[in-house]
Amino acid sequence: MHHFEYRNDTLFCEAVSVAAIAETVGTPFYLYSQATLERHFTQFDRAFDGIDHLVCYSAKANTNQAILTLFNRMGSGLDIVSGGELYRGLRAGFAPEKIVYSGVGKRIDEIDAALARGILMFNIESQQELELINARAGQLNTTAPVAIRVNPDVDPKTHPYISTGLKQNKFGIDIRTARDAYRAAQALDHVDVVGIDCHIGSQITDTQPFADALQSLKALVTALKDDGIVIKYIDMGGGLGITYQDEAPPALNTYAATISATLKKMPVKLILEPGRVIVGNAGVLVTRVLFIKPGPVKNFVIVDAGMNDLMRPTLYHAYHHVQPIIRKTAGKDEAFVADVVGPICESGDFLAQDRKMPPFEPGDLMALMSAGAYGFTMASNYCSRLKPAEVMVHGERFEVVSRRQDYETLVQNERVPAWMDA
Ligand SMILES: *Cc1c(COP(=O)(O)O)cnc(C)c1O
Repeated sequence: MHHFEYRNDTLFCEAVSVAAIAETVGTPFYLYSQATLERHFTQFDRAFDGIDHLVCYSAKANTNQAILTLFNRMGSGLDIVSGGELYRGLRAGFAPEKIVYSGVGKRIDEIDAALARGILMFNIESQQELELINARAGQLNTTAPVAIRVNPDVDPKTHPYISTGLKQNKFGIDIRTARDAYRAAQALDHVDVVGIDCHIGSQITDTQPFADALQSLKALVTALKDDGIVIKYIDMGGGLGITYQDEAPPALNTYAATISATLKKMPVKLILEPGRVIVGNAGVLVTRVLFIKPGPVKNFVIVDAGMNDLMRPTLYHAYHHVQPIIRKTAGKDEAFVADVVGPICESGDFLAQDRKMPPFEPGDLMALMSAGAYGFTMASNYCSRLKPAEVMVHGERFEVVSRRQDYETLVQNERVPAWMDA
């Protein structure tokens, strides 16, 4: 469900014409619907109504300050994976005690910043990280609340790059040795063991992997009790998928019911870290067609957005639906087959491949749908292309929530070394 719909053959985001925004803002830009963001967050949160829980929105899916501010006001916590995300989260008003910090490679400065602010917990991913956090907490005269991220070795049946809970993945501590890690943690002076965590992957469209992972976590919680270790929080991570093309992910209520049923009456607080499922379908990337180029084996629609703006197609062979902003050719939605490609000097610079679409012409506007998650956050300046603008719609209003980068900021951190002046 989202709020991008045609009215008289023109794509609207809520009550605003996308073409009108493009005239004001220029292209390319990301466009977010506040109503969709609110709807998804509320539905996700409500699905867990019956159990003690905290939704910690996973910042890396989309870290725009407007989006973080919105979720903070709706009562969300935050899942972060870097000092930069900690900074952004605090700036958007999140209370430190609602922030969980995951990630395999936390640096000392990042750990210290999180300790100084007093976050809810660190999700620990290795023995050495555990020891470092203990040492830093001792240094700062504090105690670090920790959960151990366990790797339950379940196959989420998603793209290999976004599977994270298999034993060959770099994430977490193997479930078979996790009990030893917990005993080691319990013996440390400056950590307080409060939770257990997993995050098995992303774009998961089946409930079974979540149930399997939670089963393993529960067995460990029970074993830990025998060791005198009491777990207060079970963090199930994120990973629930969305419909990009024809995937049929479980409804939020089904997902929540599976987790609740598996959790049964275990006296813990449940933490969830959804990213994609909240923001994915709440955003689109709007681009303008530059040229149409017929080739001997393929047609190309060359647009002004590239892989630097939206990396998912080339990184994961991800599918984003292609839609015209203005439908000029009713009934010809599948009249033309082409690749949608950007201006970048790489053959991997495609946004869609072998796709049926209406016959686009130079100057036409196009939307790459479902681009709200891992879109702008993965954008880069490759080929010195400027990061696109981001725009938020709320009813009949719209506002630029991140202005298009300019050439000055592109080079502002660079300098020519002194020895080259002469
Ligand atoms: C990326 C990530 C998430 C969010 O994943 P989605 O698939 O977007 O829901 C949650 N937790 C951790 C630890 C992550 O790395």
